Amino acid sequence: MATRELYWNIEGHWLLYPLFLIALGFFVYGFYQRYQLWKLGKPENRWQEVWQGIKDVLVYGFGHKRILQDAYPGIMHFIVFWGFILLAFATTIVALQADFGLKLFHGGLYVFIKVSANLFGLLAMVGILMVAWRRYVTRPDRLDTKAEDGVILALIFVILLTGFLIEGVRMAIVPDPWGVYGFVGYGLAVAFRGMGEGALLGFHRFLWWFHLLLVMVFIGYFPYSKLMHILLAPLNQFFRKRGPIGIPEPIDFEDESLETYGKSSLREFSWKALFNTDACLRCGRCQDNCPAYLSGKHLNPKQVIQDMRGYMEETGTALQEHRRTLAVASTSEATGEETAVAAEGGVEFVPVSDEELGLRALIGEVIPEEDLWACTTCRSCEAQCPVFVEHVDKTIDMRRNLVLMESRFPAEAQLAFKNMENNGNPWGIGWSTRAEFLTGLGVKTYAENPEADILYWPGCSGAFDARSQKVSGAIVKLLQKAGVNFAILGNEEKCCGDSARKLGNEYLFYSLATENIEVMQGYGVKKIVTQCPHCFNILKNEYPQLGGDFEVVHHTTYLNELIQASRIQVTPGQGRSITFHDSCYLGRYNQIYDEPRQLLKAVGLAIKEMKHTHEKSFCCGAGGGRMWLEEKEGERINQMRTDEALATGTELVGTACPFCLTMVSDGIAAREAGERVKALDVAEILEQALH
Ligand code: SF4
Ligand code: SF4
Repeated sequence: MATRELYWNIEGHWLLYPLFLIALGFFVYGFYQRYQLWKLGKPENRWQEVWQGIKDVLVYGFGHKRILQDAYPGIMHFIVFWGFILLAFATTIVALQADFGLKLFHGGLYVFIKVSANLFGLLAMVGILMVAWRRYVTRPDRLDTKAEDGVILALIFVILLTGFLIEGVRMAIVPDPWGVYGFVGYGLAVAFRGMGEGALLGFHRFLWWFHLLLVMVFIGYFPYSKLMHILLAPLNQFFRKRGPIGIPEPIDFEDESLETYGKSSLREFSWKALFNTDACLRCGRCQDNCPAYLSGKHLNPKQVIQDMRGYMEETGTALQEHRRTLAVASTSEATGEETAVAAEGGVEFVPVSDEELGLRALIGEVIPEEDLWACTTCRSCEAQCPVFVEHVDKTIDMRRNLVLMESRFPAEAQLAFKNMENNGNPWGIGWSTRAEFLTGLGVKTYAENPEADILYWPGCSGAFDARSQKVSGAIVKLLQKAGVNFAILGNEEKCCGDSARKLGNEYLFYSLATENIEVMQGYGVKKIVTQCPHCFNILKNEYPQLGGDFEVVHHTTYLNELIQASRIQVTPGQGRSITFHDSCYLGRYNQIYDEPRQLLKAVGLAIKEMKHTHEKSFCCGAGGGRMWLEEKEGERINQMRTDEALATGTELVGTACPFCLTMVSDGIAAREAGERVKALDVAEILEQALH
């Protein structure tokens, strides 16, 4: 039966057990140290969806779903990963036979292991060379290289190489009838056959021990290095947030025990937020897809996560130091409180402020404030991250602290907040004029038509912004044409609160949202059609946090339903093309990509996609409340996006968001392309094709 002798030519192989125990000791201690750091965060339950978690590990971890979206780094990582898995499997089978007497390394399994370990081991070596080529020769901007990267690559490569050499030398001495299945070792054996047997035996023993020592170094070094991602990446995928993305945790303003709002200290974040920083691979995909970074802002989502990781270590060290000081004090003349603290053990229990620990300020000194305000909350970073690091909630939490505790935010945000407070819209136009434009189009308010089936929600832009009013007009005409029984809230509608919330003003969001919910519940509203993806997202996904449960659809979805039901008839044109800009809050936040495109196709337009499209769409620059802030640093994001649209050569740019429409229209004007290219909302295009 196919098999081979284990520990052939190796005397004293038992030494591997104490060596393994030493390596394991380093591993456990290193892992425990990281665990202590994650425990600095607050408790958070991430065990709600175990089966979905396992599925995510299979799809995103073992299947590399996100990593493979980038061909070269995807394939490179895939083959190294699977090489590692197969070789770990083969080693386990050998260990089970050698140490537990299980007869596994025989027959079909022996042949399978031999073939697959050779194939995947070879592929893994190719993968390591690809990694090295990319990291040290092509050096894409998104990679930062540290000494440990080189150490790890060399370590894995030499482990793989010595594994093959051991096999080759063994087969050069002892002919193996099954050797051909280990084709790499078999080939090497041919090369070694000219050497004398004594030399080969010595060489084999040297290689075996050298290989073993390297494997032990690998195990011991694991938790102190980037190797840790092999374990933490799947765990982070398992514990990832699910459901609608991008829902900030609500603040309970009625809870009087809350002393602070938002987060300004590392220890105010949850353990998962800290765990994220260790799971980060430094792959730079987030950086490579961040509109703020790509437009030359200082913000770099990868750097934010890495800086928080470094700060977590600083905090852990400072707390340990403090605890040691307390322990010494408690044995001499400590106060009662200090003694109790020291006796409790565990750095997380020490009630001491960051200032007393001599730590840098998280906001300002670790994460620059301008980075927090530069984020458009587009979540492109999160959508690309292979291990599901959650960047944006951290930003919003820190913004909340600046706004609610420090009253420190950009001056333009102050104006937008004041306008929302006083007039229920960020422009500050008199609240009582909100319905003027729409009622002029024959639209009734809910007060006038309480039996309406649909609440049409134009949002602040649709009601007050001259350009977006045209879109509102188109939507109204389409709804009227389809015979939909709809109404608006009129002057009773307030800003949905999205900009306020994403800018960190949770209290303002809370006031606006609760008023809106009260009014809608008062009218018994069931279904809402929104014009703006920001209103859509917050009404659909975030109002339920405050008890506002309504069926909410975006206008592109609803109009598509009307077309499908033949309640709207359009005459398709011929020969015109369009490019469509995916709004972040419609696309990445709610996975609505097809409906707007179906509408464009219904009117006969050929769609030419931009370089960044669908899930990889490039933000217009207005999300996260940035619509109301100046863009002083770097290139203007809207102009970069407009350049992508212009590069398609189409005469139309389709949008489905009033903010995007404004930003792209401004971009077209800035590029002096208004003569040949127009930005239109999908509803306007549909309305023009009505018959
Ligand atoms: S949300 Fe968008 S702008 Fe903010 S860090 Fe992520 S990619 Fe950059
Ligand atoms: S946060 Fe995610 S995408 Fe960004 S570097 Fe880390 S692992 Fe890569």
